[in-house]
Amino acid sequence: MSATVIDGKAVAAALRATVAARAAELAFQPGLAVVLVGDDPASAVYVRSKDRAASASGIAARTIRLPAATSQAELLGVVRQLNDDPAIDGILVQMPLPPQIDTAVVIDAIDPAKDVDGLHPVNAGLLASGRSGLVPCTPSGAMKLLAHAGVPLSGARAIVLGRSVLVGRPMAALLTAADATVTLAHSRTRDLPGECRRADIVVAAVGRARMVGGEWLKPGAVVIDVGINRLPDGRLVGDADYESCAAVAGAITPVPGGVGPMTIACLLENTVLAAVRRRR
Ligand code: NDP
Repeated sequence: MSATVIDGKAVAAALRATVAARAAELAFQPGLAVVLVGDDPASAVYVRSKDRAASASGIAARTIRLPAATSQAELLGVVRQLNDDPAIDGILVQMPLPPQIDTAVVIDAIDPAKDVDGLHPVNAGLLASGRSGLVPCTPSGAMKLLAHAGVPLSGARAIVLGRSVLVGRPMAALLTAADATVTLAHSRTRDLPGECRRADIVVAAVGRARMVGGEWLKPGAVVIDVGINRLPDGRLVGDADYESCAAVAGAITPVPGGVGPMTIACLLENTVLAAVRRRR
């Protein structure tokens, strides 16, 4: 069997076009503020691409760069200013933050109505209780890829590998809300290959290069590979071993070009959604 490749780039381009059209219909320009603390090169690349994508979709993007030595109190001050700024609809604080800053305290300080990353406990709580808040971008993008590929979710057995607040937990909540039967696996899960082999849908969000091999899959299973791992030779690979998984799976997302492009498109979608809701 040779898996259908789920083209995240194409789905993300279509979503960005939809978001741009929605933004153009508004009587105001939605505003997104991205806060970058320090000079982590990977974070700088992400922030630049978010800025560019937002501007291309008609969103006013503002990047606030702060030195690596910024104190927690200073960062909280910036977040509060953005909370009070009527031109700003979405606030994203780029992770990871330097060690002197408590990430949870910063997330808690963001106005939940502007929390376009969907990480504030209010938004996490709304998601956990099956209500509508702002949903974290990466799992939201993964769900859109499943929908695009026409994967039936109701009654399907799904396994999510990884239980982070950013990806694994919200992904499990979204799949549950879509009536899948969900196993949330993590580093203490016993017999991970056996658990995976029972699943119709495998979402890998662990951060371990090529951990999921084709022999872990039920024939025809759908693989959503969230992982982004850099090999010593510089290549980017996912958490799934693409070649062996594609030989067994019914459909698979590539890395790069799968879930990654969806994350930014969903950030833009959340920004427009937050803008409309705030002004309602
Ligand atoms: P975290 O490090 O926060 O979480 C990793 C999770 O994987 C933890 O729950 C951990 O378990 C679990 N885990 C670690 N080792 C194993 C193992 N051997 N077997 C089973 N589970 C294991 O990572 P994130 O959720 O932030 O990110 C996961 C991956 O997704 C990374 O590669 C990251 O780069 C990528 N990513 C991609 C994005 C995109 O846009 N495509 C966006 C965000 C992340 P435990 O809880 O027990 O420690």
